[in-house]
Amino acid sequence: MNKTDALIIGAGPTGLFTAHQLKLIGLDCEIVDNLDKIGGQCIELYPDKPIYDIPAIPECTGEELTNNLIKQLKPFNIKIHLNERVDEVKKDKANWVVKTSNNKIFNTPNVIIAGGVGSFEPRKFPLKDCEKYENKSIFYAIKDKKIFEGKTVTIFGGGDSALDWAIELSKNSKINLVHRRDDFRAAQATVNQVKEIAKSGKINLFTKYQINTIRGKNELEGIEIKHDDGNVKDLNTDFVLGFFGLIMQLGPIADWGLNLDKKTINVDTEKFETNQKGIYAVGDICTYPGKLKLILSGFHEGALAARACFKLARPNEKYRFEFTTSSKSIKNRLGIKGD
Ligand SMILES: Cc1cc2nc3c(=O)[nH]c(=O)nc-3n(C[C@H](O)[C@H](O)[C@H](O)COP(=O)(O)OP(=O)(O)OC[C@H]3O[C@@H](n4cnc5c(N)ncnc54)[C@H](O)[C@@H]3O)c2cc1C
Repeated sequence: MNKTDALIIGAGPTGLFTAHQLKLIGLDCEIVDNLDKIGGQCIELYPDKPIYDIPAIPECTGEELTNNLIKQLKPFNIKIHLNERVDEVKKDKANWVVKTSNNKIFNTPNVIIAGGVGSFEPRKFPLKDCEKYENKSIFYAIKDKKIFEGKTVTIFGGGDSALDWAIELSKNSKINLVHRRDDFRAAQATVNQVKEIAKSGKINLFTKYQINTIRGKNELEGIEIKHDDGNVKDLNTDFVLGFFGLIMQLGPIADWGLNLDKKTINVDTEKFETNQKGIYAVGDICTYPGKLKLILSGFHEGALAARACFKLARPNEKYRFEFTTSSKSIKNRLGIKGD
């Protein structure tokens, strides 16, 4: 049984920064994530994509943001349990007993759910044949864009991810962009940019087409796409990327007696507490009037939830607000010597 002041579910940007906030105010915490790596959506869905709206960081990729959050946690030596899905959260006297898919058990007064979209999975191609090429030449997320350099890449989808990647990869690859409709769902500026690049021939646009068949033995050789009117086209391609969005599965979180609103958890905006005392929800998974699903909102929510944890973890102490610039105890926790 692991005892801790607070257990964080989710090692996305919100969970990581919340851990930092807990440790700064002197509370222990551990983090559990069902993915095999730290970083949540930033690392799983867009490690190479630049983010432009993290305060005071003009530009950084999903991977760089994750690495910096990990670096910021370094002084604290926090235990992060990967490949563990939290399955059960049950009340035991004043505490919560939390069980993972590998039977790790935590006992804690505070559970902070930073579970993003839950156990998320990309929506995949309907063709069964696609499975045998998955993670070899068919991908639903990009981890290393270098593998596409100098190759032909066929991208499916009409949203931001599909178009952003079409623009990005067109710098070094030949791109086919295939969408089942004429209209794209992506931001208008992105759609305009794709159309401009298409004029130069670096992106071939195919609208009202869907995947029909896959060609190849062990290696993918090409695909056939089919127009709404029944016409088929054969495309030679080295890689196929599908960006059809995520299937959002709350997973076990749905069974913990929380006040849910569709696939999010209702919280107050003072402590980010749910309808269960000592269970908080922060980041993409929480909802309240005016909620913005942005990383910066998750940081703010985590900072407040961390302060709320203090009361249950240290019932006989009073939380004192301090600045990091001037607090001796915070500097001690960070391992900084001198004033
Ligand atoms: C393509 C794309 C571009 C984006 N661009 C921006 C941008 O420019 N700026 C911006 O601010 N935001 C952007 N976002 C949104 C941003 O990534 C999210 O707001 C952010 O990732 C939310 O962080 P989070 O920590 O709340 O959740 P997540 O990043 O989703 O992390 C949640 C983690 O919880 C884990 N988890 C869930 N359920 C369980 C369970 N039961 N047990 C264990 N672990 C569990 C998941 O595995 C996951 O790792 C973008 C998103 C996408 C998809």
